[in-house]
Amino acid sequence: MEKLFETIFNSVNDGILIYDLKGHFLEVNQITCDDLGYQKDELLQMTGMDIIPPELGEKFIGQIFEKMNQGGGIIETMGQCKDGSLIPIEFSIRPIEYKGNPAILAVVRNITERKKAEEAMLNSKLAAEAANQAKSEFLTNMSHELRTPLNSIIGFSDILCSESFGSLNETQKHYIYNVNKSGKHLLELINDMLDLSKIEAGKMELFPEEFVVLDTINGIKTTMMPLAKKKEIDLKCSSNIEDSIIVADVLKFKQIIYNLVSNAIKFTNKGGSVTIGLDRSDEQISIFVEDNGLGISQNDQKKLFDPFIQVDSSLSKEYSGTGLGLVLTKYFVEMHGGDVWVDSEVGKGSTFGFSIPTNLEIKPN
Ligand code: ADP
Repeated sequence: MEKLFETIFNSVNDGILIYDLKGHFLEVNQITCDDLGYQKDELLQMTGMDIIPPELGEKFIGQIFEKMNQGGGIIETMGQCKDGSLIPIEFSIRPIEYKGNPAILAVVRNITERKKAEEAMLNSKLAAEAANQAKSEFLTNMSHELRTPLNSIIGFSDILCSESFGSLNETQKHYIYNVNKSGKHLLELINDMLDLSKIEAGKMELFPEEFVVLDTINGIKTTMMPLAKKKEIDLKCSSNIEDSIIVADVLKFKQIIYNLVSNAIKFTNKGGSVTIGLDRSDEQISIFVEDNGLGISQNDQKKLFDPFIQVDSSLSKEYSGTGLGLVLTKYFVEMHGGDVWVDSEVGKGSTFGFSIPTNLEIKPN
């Protein structure tokens, strides 16, 4: 048995040390000697403190006492070799009895490779974060820069479309209408990207205030009505809550519903219907937007809230969009501490809904 023990002691890949309670080495195995560059006889004349850099000694003793009081444990520190070089080591210690006296058993592992891998991982995480931050800043700056000329394209093409400065022939009207429509689409995309980069940079804030939910929803309905009428879609609101007041960020609340309603109109065929409904308990308000449009397959429903996803490319080409609306919707709802959900069947229609708390805390200025 003793022979077997000795073979194991000297063959394992980790260093094994036995100390007395004053820190003197009583036993060391071969790998300890190899790692630290000492002869066994030399080490047996030394104490634990001699293989730790002096500046870490005090902390190391403290850690040893702490772990021994807990019945053992693991300490990460640096080991100092005979030639002065340092290696990161992991000390796994336990109290034992050795030759009738209390002692400490330490299994010492050279963790140079692990530390290198950890450091490489940390460095790539920091690099990825820095790149992401740079990307967000770039997007924010670029979005601002793009909006200025775009507003002029939209503004002047609006004026030309209105023919206030002279009438246009059919071809001119068609072209300028296209310039205007594309400009507005681009602006929508830029605004969404700006919002997204603000969210990613952690700069998107909530500005809670009190408002009457139904008034807000009716306002959205009025804004969306021309779009619905164009497609002969019956846009209605179904609610038995009259004067429900909630505290939330009203602009974001509007944008969430606007996104859901404009999608419902976009993805519903001519003559369909879209209903905005709401339901309230004491602490939660739920809004849903139901359509009897194209519907979304179970598989596609899973990707809906990922950036730039447009479910069916042939349809998405027909209906202009950015693929960012639902991503922002989800962020805005989650910023309020709420949830979004979707229930849909291909060919039958979709219901998108969200619930948020009714009394978001108003932060003092
Ligand atoms: P988009 O700007 O393209 O509408 P969204 O993020 O709002 O971007 O929506 C992503 C995709 O989800 C849409 O392109 C569409 O394929 C699908 N979608 C969203 N709402 C509906 C809906 N009510 N009915 C069917 N498909 C929808």
